[in-house]
Amino acid sequence: MVPASSEHDYDIIVAGGGMIGSTLALALAPLALRVAIVEPVPRAATAQPSFDDRSTVLSRSTQRTFEAMGLWEGIVAAATPVTRIHVSDRGRFGFAHIDAAEQGVEALGYVVVNRVLGEMLGNALDRTQGLRMLCPARIVGARPGPDSVTVRVAGDDGAVSELRCRLLVAADGAASPVRDMVGIAAKRVAYGQRAVVGNLVTEKRTDGCAFERFTGRGPVALLPVADGRTAFVWTVAERDAERVLGLDDTEFLEELQSTFGYRLGRFSKVGARSAYPLALSRAARLTAQRTVLLGNAAHGLHPVAAQGFNLGVRDVAALGDCIADACAASVDAPDPGATTLLERYAAWRRFDQAKLVGLTDGLVRLFGESAPPLPFLRDLGMLAFDLVPGVRGLFARHTMGLAGRLPRLSRGVPLA
Ligand SMILES: Cc1cc2nc3c(=O)[nH]c(=O)nc-3n(C[C@H](O)[C@H](O)[C@H](O)COP(=O)(O)OP(=O)(O)OC[C@H]3O[C@@H](n4cnc5c(N)ncnc54)[C@H](O)[C@@H]3O)c2cc1C
Repeated sequence: MVPASSEHDYDIIVAGGGMIGSTLALALAPLALRVAIVEPVPRAATAQPSFDDRSTVLSRSTQRTFEAMGLWEGIVAAATPVTRIHVSDRGRFGFAHIDAAEQGVEALGYVVVNRVLGEMLGNALDRTQGLRMLCPARIVGARPGPDSVTVRVAGDDGAVSELRCRLLVAADGAASPVRDMVGIAAKRVAYGQRAVVGNLVTEKRTDGCAFERFTGRGPVALLPVADGRTAFVWTVAERDAERVLGLDDTEFLEELQSTFGYRLGRFSKVGARSAYPLALSRAARLTAQRTVLLGNAAHGLHPVAAQGFNLGVRDVAALGDCIADACAASVDAPDPGATTLLERYAAWRRFDQAKLVGLTDGLVRLFGESAPPLPFLRDLGMLAFDLVPGVRGLFARHTMGLAGRLPRLSRGVPLA
């Protein structure tokens, strides 16, 4: 791990080479900055937490971002389009739907397996000139100063080196060690739930439809994936999680079927299951001196609306915009960690992040309540959503990530 020799070793050090850290490093590639990623888990390791067997729904603005980065062609070949979303409350009369054709788009989103996305991002990182991958290595200390951040990096042999950068990006996940190192507090509220995920086969074809069904036992999402399979994300109460995970295939299918119902016919051929504890986490601030929090390090959401990664990609796009502007305005060396740049970034991102935290948390609480009159009010709300002109379109724009002032990448425009 030999650092480049100059006043600063790197313009930017990215803590975390997961979904968001990798996307940021690739987005910045055209700006010819000296960038390093520090990631503890080797890419090929099955333990890489960001790129596991989960499926992620990519929104329209994420699609545009990858288009602008020249990566979409590869991703879309391995992705499944979502052309309709159907939302229902089990045992109630209310339901709502959104159609791609009605919104004038080819797809409302695309489902991709995280492992496949990880391989593509990893291959693109390998091809990126001037990018340094420090892996396996972890950040064990960060000391921000007026001109640079001194970052302590430990290799897997235990040797620690000191590197200096002008901007430190914490993309190191919801538990973000870097966030603690630079003194930003975070609030974490556990939902007392776990998301159990896997794949199965449904008797009836999904035909591109994604289902979100709120049930007395937690929301169940069914997503169309490649090869005629369907991915499920079943939210179960923490107290029930170990029992559900201990069920054999037949018992598991029976229980999921009785929770979701028969809208897609009989379920069969369930694959391996894994589970994720669910919590809402939110950093008190998005920036500290020469440091910025991105993705889950800034906001960890409930997966109920499939928005966490997409929100993080919009963070990437906005930060990319601010840094690209600094590069264009600078005659010699741009300063990506300048206070004014970070203030502009934080002001830009505050509203979108607060909106998505409110939306996902609100949905979990609204549909988690069975005491009257809430179920009836939910029915009315869904009917209104379906019937009142304009409401569906407005909601679709927000969930596709197309509302508000969009940075270049979210509009499909490259940074340089
Ligand atoms: C069940 C489930 C389903 C989901 N579905 C969707 C969906 O459909 N759509 C959507 O938009 N979002 C979805 N999400 C959310 C999405 O997965 C997350 O928002 C996304 O993974 C966040 O990526 P990240 O890179 O910020 O964090 P992480 O994926 O947690 O990556 C953090 C990285 O930092 C590294 N790291 C840790 N410590 C250090 C250190 N000291 N130094 C350096 N590096 C370090 C880790 O090894 C890791 O690689 C879902 C989440 C769950 C749990």
